Amino acid sequence: MERLLETVFLCKKNKMNKFEKLGISSQILKVIEKENFEEPSEIQIKAIPLVLKGKDVIGGSATGSGKTLVFGSRIIQDCTQGKGIQSLVLTPTRELAIQVRDALAKFSQYNPLEILAVYGGVSINPQINELKIADVVVGTPGRVLDHVGRRTIDLRKVKVLVLDEADRMLDMGFLEDVEKIIKQCPSDRQTLLFSATIIPEVKRLSKRYMVDPVLVSAESMVDPKKLKQVYYDVPDSLKFSLLVHLLKDDKNSGLVMIFCSSRRNVDFVVKNLRGNKVDAIAIHGGFTQARRESSLRKFNSGKAWVLVCTDVAARGLDIKGVSHVYNYDLPRESKQYVHRIGRTARAGKDGMAVNILAQRDHENFSRVLKDNDVEIVRLETPPVSKVRTKIPAQEGSGRSSHKRGGHRRGSSRREHGRNRRR
Ligand code: AMP
Repeated sequence: MERLLETVFLCKKNKMNKFEKLGISSQILKVIEKENFEEPSEIQIKAIPLVLKGKDVIGGSATGSGKTLVFGSRIIQDCTQGKGIQSLVLTPTRELAIQVRDALAKFSQYNPLEILAVYGGVSINPQINELKIADVVVGTPGRVLDHVGRRTIDLRKVKVLVLDEADRMLDMGFLEDVEKIIKQCPSDRQTLLFSATIIPEVKRLSKRYMVDPVLVSAESMVDPKKLKQVYYDVPDSLKFSLLVHLLKDDKNSGLVMIFCSSRRNVDFVVKNLRGNKVDAIAIHGGFTQARRESSLRKFNSGKAWVLVCTDVAARGLDIKGVSHVYNYDLPRESKQYVHRIGRTARAGKDGMAVNILAQRDHENFSRVLKDNDVEIVRLETPPVSKVRTKIPAQEGSGRSSHKRGGHRRGSSRREHGRNRRR
């Protein structure tokens, strides 16, 4: 027994050594031990030593790579409570701001810091009060700039500036806001930029606002050997019925994410899944902040096991335990496919990506195959009985129940396919 305890102790010590070697402080190591992290991820190994030396770093890494600990280790080791805002993290979305705030709060549980998330869609007044005592601010560019305009945020003491998911912030048109905010921070700060893809705009931003940045790249923690990718090719009229069949058929599935290309399709799928007794919830850009958060909470806590979402609403969110990713619509941008499938097969678990193709998806599917190094196996469509579907009330007033599997004749494709807002 004693020997066994000694072995367990040595194993734990070895694990922690790998993190300790990177220069991470003992307080953060305690959290890492509590979280049972086995070993540092690729981006952590490559970037943490540079970041802790005070270098400007561009991290080419996506969600799931462990990048929050990279900048978190610097922020937590460098900031002291009650000395003003010493670190600012900009994120493209409210959900990511909340997620990063929560992760930083977790990693800093032995280094008490006031970490505040600042985002739009909620009342500004409580934020104004909380900003007076914040040590670290995580925020979306729009709301942070709003505070700058009102002079309710003081960025003159910022030592570490983080631009998280920079490619996405620029994609969303935040360049000007981000630049205005950067100019409020002292020029002798450390700047850390993370981006899934280093697009030319990201390069330009880094040239303008970073000093001798070191570029480090790493894969996300998705294990390609654990991920199986399949597709079914079905008539449009069977698309939804096949989805229901597959969801009900797989008794061993964990959490499921279903991606659609528009808000309208999300509404359609979630409503009809519920109508077919599948416990599904939705998240898309048309929801209020409170509704998005409540959906996410339900999904994360396992109260609903199916999340139907658009790319924009889902990117950047860290959701654990996703066993299946369904593409109900194939993404128009092929790199989006990689982001989607990266939601499963994480942290050593098996995962499955299921593509349900109808005629209208073929072009997008060809692009996915051409642009990405992926192997997607064709599966025969099982015998599927058609299920009843309804168009959500706000769009299809007066035309409710009918038997087609997913789309109405004639105008249906326009209704579900052309609404590109996400
Ligand atoms: P991130 O990319 O920072 O959002 O991290 C994604 C998820 O991986 C989070 O749930 C982290 O807590 C977790 N994580 C971060 N580093 C590690 C690690 N070295 N080993 C296992 N999980 C990790």
